[in-house]
Amino acid sequence: MSGEVASYIPELATADPGWFGISMVTADGSVYEVGDTRREFTIQSISKPLTFALALEAIGGEEVRKHVDVEPSGEAFNSITLQPGTGRPLNPMVNAGAIATTSLIEPLGFDQPIDRILNEYSAFAGRDLSVDEAVFSSENETGHRNRAIAHLLRNAEVVDHEVEEIVETYFRQCATLVDCRDLATIAATLASTGVNPVTKERVLREDTVRNVLSVMASCGMYDSAGDWLYSVGLPAKSGVAGGIIAVLPGQLGIAVYSPPLDPHGNSVRGVKVCEDISDELHLHVMSPARRPPPPVRVERSCLNSRSKRLRSQNEQKILAKYGHRVKVLELQGELSFAAGELITSSALNRADETDFAVLDFNAVRAIDLIDVPIFSHLVESYEEAGGEIAFSDIDRHPLFAEAFSRHRDEDGVHPVRSFADLDLALEWCEHGLIEKYGDLDPDPELSLAQHAATIGMSPDQIALLAKHLDYREYEAGEVIYEASETRVHEMLLVTAGKISILLRSDDGSHRRVATLSPGMTLGEVAMLNNGDRIGTSVADTRVAAYVLESGDLEALRGADPALVAILFENLLRMMAIRASNLRNTVH
Ligand code: GLN
Repeated sequence: MSGEVASYIPELATADPGWFGISMVTADGSVYEVGDTRREFTIQSISKPLTFALALEAIGGEEVRKHVDVEPSGEAFNSITLQPGTGRPLNPMVNAGAIATTSLIEPLGFDQPIDRILNEYSAFAGRDLSVDEAVFSSENETGHRNRAIAHLLRNAEVVDHEVEEIVETYFRQCATLVDCRDLATIAATLASTGVNPVTKERVLREDTVRNVLSVMASCGMYDSAGDWLYSVGLPAKSGVAGGIIAVLPGQLGIAVYSPPLDPHGNSVRGVKVCEDISDELHLHVMSPARRPPPPVRVERSCLNSRSKRLRSQNEQKILAKYGHRVKVLELQGELSFAAGELITSSALNRADETDFAVLDFNAVRAIDLIDVPIFSHLVESYEEAGGEIAFSDIDRHPLFAEAFSRHRDEDGVHPVRSFADLDLALEWCEHGLIEKYGDLDPDPELSLAQHAATIGMSPDQIALLAKHLDYREYEAGEVIYEASETRVHEMLLVTAGKISILLRSDDGSHRRVATLSPGMTLGEVAMLNNGDRIGTSVADTRVAAYVLESGDLEALRGADPALVAILFENLLRMMAIRASNLRNTVH
């Protein structure tokens, strides 16, 4: 592989040209790496976009732009060209612009500007970074060209600090030690709207990220920026120690480390690797192959998607006949203006063929607020055509949800129905269909002999069983068993009402995993398993049940072992039915 290791900073010449590492960090924080990805080297010019970002947030874009332009220079990184007239450097990615940007950083709570800069870089990398003093001194002793640039900037009143102070800070920021993985994390932070995907810390505002990526795209590779954008097509930045970062907005950050440089000062292998990765993975930002995934991941109806609510035969019949009149659109990805338009046109066309629609936001990563009026229009038209529509899982996007409600409010229309998850939304649709096209089943109260647990028992056995049971009732909303309860040595034979089994998620919310109705049993697994409850069970309506305690079960076993065998056989059959039912429910 051709190229020369940089030697104009003497300390850099000590690098081994064979060092080679590649790291990739995705926007969700997965790290891929190969080669010398933990060998530290100095960040050099890859510091430039980071300090530019810091300056934008520290003093605001307008102020920064008084000191530096954002025009590609087409010149070498160390060129001594300033804008005629204003004396401003052409862009913050060449040395002149970077020196000007660095001079804008005030210490603000830190001892020195460099401490604030290092603090920022550390947040980008997700670990504490420090300066390589040897490389710093080496550049400080020999960096006369950069001093000359700083003097010109001072002369043009683009900077107003002492030249020595400014170049020292600049040389130190360039001498920040990073490894290849750090650089990929930095790139991934820029890729994921300014949030470090590994630490989850927000390092930059979104508008800053856009500004930084724009100058990286047009100026990041100096006098080969045009070539780079043409062939690799990713915002990028190189450094003379041999590092390169490239950013695929929204998706991933790439970093390559290999010290030999081409005449532009860009790592030869780094450029080649980025070209190959971009080509093979179709990453070029202008590539038509990189169209976002369709906003509607899948369209379902109540024929192929059911809630976890178990339905009676009569209800099942209604759902089988009218299930197609429910449309569930599972949305996905990042919903932009164009995505909102697509969804609107697809769902609207069916307003007369369906009665209920659900827009499920579970797999949506982000929604642009531009979609508020678009979705609002969609809901209104659907309702005007006589349908009812609901959202599920919209709470993952609180900004959108809030803006949407406000919009509806201003229009004087009722807030849109919203469910915590698709299961509950589907239950609402099913309920609606059953109400519209049939009679809701009256809730039958079963006798013990009608209960599925007693199938195959003789009247005497049922009478014997009855003696060992208690009868208990629960009000609607009452918790029957709490998930944390242990040693509850009893089970219920449900004879009336409906029960939901909820599992608590890590974030404190509940997810319904099953529903029970008359003829079913609750708690037999827990009773046989030390009495430890796994889920919380709640009475959705008034519930009536026979209670069998484990002590009574033992007594029954003594009195009539055959009865207990029949009971267990029935429990097993019910469990098998429940397991096969799972196939017809969502996820
Ligand atoms: N510190 C180096 C310089 O100012 C950085 C240059 C670079 O990485 N392109 O010359």
